[in-house]
Amino acid sequence: MSATPARRILAVVTLLALLVLSACTAGPALHVRRVATHQPAPSASPAAPSTSPSPTTKPAPGSLDWYVSQVPTFPEAPPPQPVPLPVTGAAQFWQRLPTDQRVAFITIDDGGLARPPEVADFIWRAHIPVTMFLNSPAAEEHDVYFRQIMVAGGVVENHTITHTSLAGRSYDRQRHEICGAADKLEALFGKRPTLFRPPFGEHDATTLRAAHDCGAKAVFHWTETVHEGKVRYQTPEKVVQPGDVLLMHFRPALMDDLLAALKAIHRAGLTPALLEDYVR
Ligand SMILES: [Zn+2]
Repeated sequence: MSATPARRILAVVTLLALLVLSACTAGPALHVRRVATHQPAPSASPAAPSTSPSPTTKPAPGSLDWYVSQVPTFPEAPPPQPVPLPVTGAAQFWQRLPTDQRVAFITIDDGGLARPPEVADFIWRAHIPVTMFLNSPAAEEHDVYFRQIMVAGGVVENHTITHTSLAGRSYDRQRHEICGAADKLEALFGKRPTLFRPPFGEHDATTLRAAHDCGAKAVFHWTETVHEGKVRYQTPEKVVQPGDVLLMHFRPALMDDLLAALKAIHRAGLTPALLEDYVR
């Protein structure tokens, strides 16, 4: 699995920008340095980080090195073929992305409950493509954490302000929740979200209109949930299908959830890919 060259270059440019930025502020500098020290330049061949154990030493279970060592080797990701979007006044709704390409997508929601500290390093070192559907107050309070994951290759998308159920609410109320979060996330991270996930997956036709009017191209449900290292299938196949969307949350066991998702995708003969490469 590897990010597209353009995305890796973007990540490095972002990293350099953050390094320049962080020269003025002590906080982010520490975080950025932590990400940077583990990773060789993208043009270099994969190299062990300085903290890597010798070949005869197995990493301690539960350590970052252990998680990285458990990641399966995936087939090469195919060049993404973006899915055509109909031109309407509403965002497209999908449970899974309609594609025959042998890829599946990892999504991480919320952001307010827990933020395991090694997630950014894990994502960076194992090249895990992730989409983060964040509530804007959590994003604002913990922006450095989520920026670290962006530097590692993750993308921030929209999950409302207050995590309230939108179905049945007025257009204005729904628009306030969706546009308000989009405005804040754009201000924080410099990119307006183009994807939206309604809290609890609860939505109606008004949600799709409001999401469209706030800049979203697509609204995503999910096909599997991952919690405490267990994948639960919500489709009859009980195996990850091409285009499937796996949902997990920023919770204490996120490292285990990421690993479980990667193993399930690998068992299905698929490769993790970035949702944003398929919805343009
Ligand atoms: Zn949520």
